[in-house]
Amino acid sequence: MSSIRRVASWGLIVGAAAAAGAGTVAAVQEYKSGIVWPEPPVVDPGPPGGVPSDAIVLFDGKDLSKWNGGDQWEVKDGYAVVRKTDITTKEAFGDCQLHVEFATPEVVKGSGQGRGNSGVFLMNHYEVQVLDSYGNKTYFDGQCGAIYKESPPMVNVCRKPGEWQTYDIVFEAPRFGADGKVEKPAYITVLQNGVVVQNHFEILGDTYYDRPPAYTKHREREPIRLQNHGNPVKYRNIWVRDLKPIVGKKPATSGSGG
Ligand code: MG
Repeated sequence: MSSIRRVASWGLIVGAAAAAGAGTVAAVQEYKSGIVWPEPPVVDPGPPGGVPSDAIVLFDGKDLSKWNGGDQWEVKDGYAVVRKTDITTKEAFGDCQLHVEFATPEVVKGSGQGRGNSGVFLMNHYEVQVLDSYGNKTYFDGQCGAIYKESPPMVNVCRKPGEWQTYDIVFEAPRFGADGKVEKPAYITVLQNGVVVQNHFEILGDTYYDRPPAYTKHREREPIRLQNHGNPVKYRNIWVRDLKPIVGKKPATSGSGG
């Protein structure tokens, strides 16, 4: 049907409806949930690529004073270079949004897991792999963007060695019962360079090299860790936001309703 004819028929339908309902149009009732919501806090997102006003800046290019072991890494020209140790945040986090920028070494050395290896550990337990996976084959659940040994990235969206890349991570912490059992597993969504590579993946447990993933009970909040794997990977512009759900008050129900 041509667009002109489609418009013409629509006009006829509307006209007929108006004629049929003339004088008897019932008022349309607006749906309201009745839930009393608090007003969402105002956050200034900053300029494009900027830091949201409610974020905790973990590294702004100047120093790693917010990290245990940070004095072991090299900081220069607005970035940090991995050196002899892992570093962990002094502050602990649970449900969070994490932004990290990284660059694998421009001078390519090694292959497989030995090329540009580092990692971003949520809660010190769950690794989002950092690796130079630009034309560098390794096992798929160990390449860049993988939840290490649990889930390969859906796509390989790596930039070339030496180029800056981004991780934007949305993380839901696991919940443990008093007996140490998992009441709710952790979930993770990862965007690499703006492209989704993990979509609300259910984390299976700690990400080990030498054994299957398994949960071990830990605190509600734990530090973020950046891995030293012997390769001089660079980091810059790291910030994190606590995620708190908006909780509304449900209306009192009148009668049991059965
Ligand atoms: Mg790693």
